[in-house]
Amino acid sequence: MAGERVLVMDDSLVYRDLLVNHVLEPNGYVPLIAVDGEMGLQMALREAPDLVIMDMQMPKMTGIQVLEALHEAGSQIPVIMMTLHGSEGLAVQAFRLGLKDYVIKPFDIEEILASIDRALTEVRLRRERDALTQELMQVNQQLAAVLTNTEDGVLVVADDLAERVILANQAAREAFGMEEDVAGRPLAEVVQDEILADVLHRAQVSTEAAHAEIPLPDERTLNAHVTPIPDVGRVAVMQDITVIKELDRMKSEFVSTVSHDLRSPLTSIKGFADLLPVAGPLNEQQTHFLGKIQHGVETVTEMVTDLLDLGRIEAEVRMEMEPCDVAAIIEKAVAGQRNQAELKNQALDVHVVPDLPGVLGNRLRLGQAVSNLVSNSVKYTPEGGHIAVSVSVEDGQVVVRVKDNGIGIPPDDLPHVFDKFYRVDSPETAEIIGSGLGLSIVKTIVEKHRGRVWVESECGWKTSVGVGTTFTIVLPAA
Ligand code: ADP
Repeated sequence: MAGERVLVMDDSLVYRDLLVNHVLEPNGYVPLIAVDGEMGLQMALREAPDLVIMDMQMPKMTGIQVLEALHEAGSQIPVIMMTLHGSEGLAVQAFRLGLKDYVIKPFDIEEILASIDRALTEVRLRRERDALTQELMQVNQQLAAVLTNTEDGVLVVADDLAERVILANQAAREAFGMEEDVAGRPLAEVVQDEILADVLHRAQVSTEAAHAEIPLPDERTLNAHVTPIPDVGRVAVMQDITVIKELDRMKSEFVSTVSHDLRSPLTSIKGFADLLPVAGPLNEQQTHFLGKIQHGVETVTEMVTDLLDLGRIEAEVRMEMEPCDVAAIIEKAVAGQRNQAELKNQALDVHVVPDLPGVLGNRLRLGQAVSNLVSNSVKYTPEGGHIAVSVSVEDGQVVVRVKDNGIGIPPDDLPHVFDKFYRVDSPETAEIIGSGLGLSIVKTIVEKHRGRVWVESECGWKTSVGVGTTFTIVLPAA
């Protein structure tokens, strides 16, 4: 390591010259020079060099005396002694005083360089350790500052029986009215919130992350996310979601108001349109126009329903989830579409593998997703077609497939069918009522379940065998 300061104590000009000009300077060390023991001792104490190389026999103070004095002063500076042949005995005595090494005069350059290197290794290691400790302390301070000042509440508890608090930052302490000095105290002593205690407990039992919404006495709501960290405990990070909850509430209120306002006039248009033929006979043109009105109303009604539904699903901060029986959800969704399929003479089969694992999900929304897919298959499959719904387990995940041998989706449209309001524009689809929102709803629901959905399709029904569309939903098993 360059720049280390080495104090040379020797009354011999020859050796001082050898050490300074041939050993130390050429190797990047910074030499300090003392010509006798007394001067050397003073310099050593004053300058605190990294290393001392001293002669055994010096005027005013011998090497041993200097060593004794350094030893007494509690000096940690490593010392190399230069001795003459025959005085090794003294060197042994010197080792008791903390001497690092000795060389016998005359020595060659390599020998003394190796000795210097050995003696300094310890110093270097100590320095590195000090630097690392310093760095660690700094990182520690920075971390503490980040945790203390972060807006999210952070609470760390140990996994011991008492669940001792390891850390509670300011936001967490404020939220639960904890005193400043809670570290080391049992959690139950400092926080009485049942939901927090429960979510911490769940994370410990399951060894998996757990979360919960915690309403506070001051009307705020925290979203607590607890992660177990092996050998540390559990870390709860709590985000204030009061504003999001309020927005959520406002959006739901808006959606339900608008839904009512939009739907009532549509209902009356549809009602009166349906009544027209009852009021009196219609001529051919009137019947044709009425058909157009009814078709338009149905389209707009479906659009309003889907739009409001999508708005509601997207607005939910977190969907209510519970363990679900996917088979039962599928049966119900398919049953809802059976009538339509029968009207078109379509076969609608369901196949579910036995021992299906449960899925953590929202029954209503999962049912809606499957129902949308089956309803699409019924809509976009001509009379006499075949629709197959299957549920299987693949790689520990629950896989739902809705397969039809319908009109298929042209390759150019395929990447867009999940986009909002996207509908395939073709003679086959022109007469089919739809909002272009059904698949957006499916995708949003599936993604809220941390699942994936995709489509494979080939166009050209009747012209070739094995064409049609397959939608696949993959859901993580509970
Ligand atoms: P829509 O209300 O128009 O059915 P979707 O979002 O459900 O809206 O579907 C988007 C478009 O994807 C549809 O308009 C249709 O062109 C196409 N599509 C969806 N499902 C099928 C299917 N099973 N077979 C053929 N085309 C389909």
